[in-house]
Amino acid sequence: MDGEYNILTIHLRLDKDYKLSEQAELKETVRSKLKDESIDHITIEFEGQDEKCGLEDC
Ligand SMILES: [Zn+2]
Repeated sequence: MDGEYNILTIHLRLDKDYKLSEQAELKETVRSKLKDESIDHITIEFEGQDEKCGLEDC
């Protein structure tokens, strides 16, 4: 154990309005793609096209 804890936050900009169930599916897809990357915690945020999330470079 090396004390590292890898946290990844992903911002997904949606190109259309997804239903909640569709968003859940998208999250599952992303999670399964990343599951071998030794990431302990993945946070996935969805943003609408006009939504400002507060990050300068997002
Ligand atoms: Zn963002």
